Amino acid sequence: HAKRQGGDRTSLYRPGEIVRRDSDDLQADLAAALEGGEIELVYQPIIRLSDNTIAGFEALVRWEHPRRGSVPPSEFIPVAEESGLIVQLGLFTLERAARDLALWQAALREGPPLFVSVNVSSQQLLRYDLINDVKAVLARSGVAPETLKLEITESLVMQNPEFAAKMLEEIRNLGASLALDDFGTGYSALSYLQRFPFDTIKVDRSFVANNGSTARPVILRSIITLAHDLGMDVVAEGAETESDTLELIQLGCEYVQGYLYGRPMSSQMAHQMARRRQQP
Ligand code: C2E
Ligand code: CA
Ligand code: CA
Ligand code: CA
Repeated sequence: HAKRQGGDRTSLYRPGEIVRRDSDDLQADLAAALEGGEIELVYQPIIRLSDNTIAGFEALVRWEHPRRGSVPPSEFIPVAEESGLIVQLGLFTLERAARDLALWQAALREGPPLFVSVNVSSQQLLRYDLINDVKAVLARSGVAPETLKLEITESLVMQNPEFAAKMLEEIRNLGASLALDDFGTGYSALSYLQRFPFDTIKVDRSFVANNGSTARPVILRSIITLAHDLGMDVVAEGAETESDTLELIQLGCEYVQGYLYGRPMSSQMAHQMARRRQQP
């Protein structure tokens, strides 16, 4: 930002210093939090629209900091990525989600098997040994590989498309499923679909929740048609009203996730809900 006239050097430099010191603190605290059990997973239901039952859950990480209170993932995931703590955090998340899924599946004897969707950060995919982590987690949990879904965001592929494609192929070879997250928000979304082996597209909530835009329903329809023509399923994110959902049903969308159906909840609550197989 522009330097102001005259004697206020402190106000010119202080913002950057505070941000840097704050994220250093956050990094040290995050390392301790991972050891100390302050990090937990919550689960948000994903509903199958054809029969209004729960198809699976997305695992979302939560950090309850003793002094700061709850720190949003949008703040600490970038810190984890910069510091390399994302490896530990990512393994924790995969491990815990697969373990919870195994418990839920064991209690459910009928109907299609539940899945769990786990977010994978770009650094995890590009810099670390994600394949071996997935392999180990599948073996330890005993869940059917296809019921473990990894959610990938578009931004990662920009960094190294060849390597990302290779990694994603290997994950598919292990039998796990792949979802392209936040579809429609990146720069080269269509080229991703050409290069990478996704099973599912998750449509970003900016195309799902009615915001009065006349382009929105046209884009939504096109994304769903595109996914189906490519043999992929669609999860619509961020449905908040009944009319959002009616529109999705009319467009032939398979799954929906959003506050209308349930906020992220504890694994115990997710378990109970899964047993009833009903929407909240
Ligand atoms: P995301 O993967 O797009 O996750 C969906 C986010 O939308 C979640 O926010 C969820 O609580 C929120 N959401 C769900 N339904 C609705 C709705 O109807 N309306 C609105 N306004 N929001 C809704 P959350 O939990 O704060 O997570 C934010 C982001 O942090 C996630 O976006 C994901 O990119 C990242 N994240 C969360 N957990 C993990 C994790 O375990 N690993 C990694 N690498 N990233 C994670
Ligand atoms: Ca996600
Ligand atoms: Ca998303
Ligand atoms: Ca997101």
